[in-house]
Amino acid sequence: MAALQGRIALVTGASQGIGRACALALARAGATVALAARSQDKLAAVAAEIAAAGGQAEAFALDVAGEESLKAGAKAVLERYGKVEILVNNAGITRDGLMMAMKRTDWDDVLGTNLTGAFLLTQALLRPMLKNRWGRIINISSVVGRTGQAGQVNYASSKAGLIGLTRSLAREVASRGITVNAVAPGYIETPMTAVLDDKQREAMMAAIPLGRPGTAEEIAQSVAFLASDAAAYITGHVLDVNGGMFMGA
Ligand code: NAP
Repeated sequence: MAALQGRIALVTGASQGIGRACALALARAGATVALAARSQDKLAAVAAEIAAAGGQAEAFALDVAGEESLKAGAKAVLERYGKVEILVNNAGITRDGLMMAMKRTDWDDVLGTNLTGAFLLTQALLRPMLKNRWGRIINISSVVGRTGQAGQVNYASSKAGLIGLTRSLAREVASRGITVNAVAPGYIETPMTAVLDDKQREAMMAAIPLGRPGTAEEIAQSVAFLASDAAAYITGHVLDVNGGMFMGA
């Protein structure tokens, strides 16, 4: 039997990049996957891709930065499946700029999507997970949340904040059989990083001991592992998947 057979999963930012790869991997492992993001069309295409491969998935268009949209989306998922057992908080954005030039809206948008969105969605789905006495919450942080990055005070704060959320919630819900972990990707080739110029790309590559960017699939494999029974004794952990870019505690 596949490792996640019969489990209900929800992945945010499932319309492309890392979230799409996570959704495909969880579905391959047997989970039924609720796909969340703003673009209904892209989600429908991912759902069709999963169905074509013999898996089960459905699109739920929602905006994690909009509280009403997020709550309505969570409600629709709970009405459909009764519970979410594996939650992957992956939706994220960047609005880069140096501290002195950063607009308040750039700060608010990034924190609102990357951190508050994960907080609100987790809160909206936690009760049935607690009742179910089994759960996996996996937050997609970033190497930048570990090291900091010039030009990204907003993004790095949101990603470091997700690590605090992960470890605090892990302590709160451990007694109910729920693990909470973070995955901190390094430089991964996705639409988010496709906008980097050659100079930025070269600087990034020089900092990666393994000498290549990571793939969305490599992040998805880590997420599928943390969702599985094989990771049952791991909680409050930050899994660095970064080619050696940062080798911290
Ligand atoms: P991406 O290609 O830009 O995809 C981002 C996803 O988030 C899209 O599916 C997007 O879908 C969704 N999203 C954005 N805002 C949203 C909102 N308000 N509500 C719902 N969904 C929203 O980025 P990626 O590279 O796959 O990154 C995925 C996650 O990994 C992010 O949290 C990112 O910070 C993190 N990460 C990425 C890298 C990297 O090198 N790529 C490194 C470290 C961490 P819609 O536009 O359809 O809403």
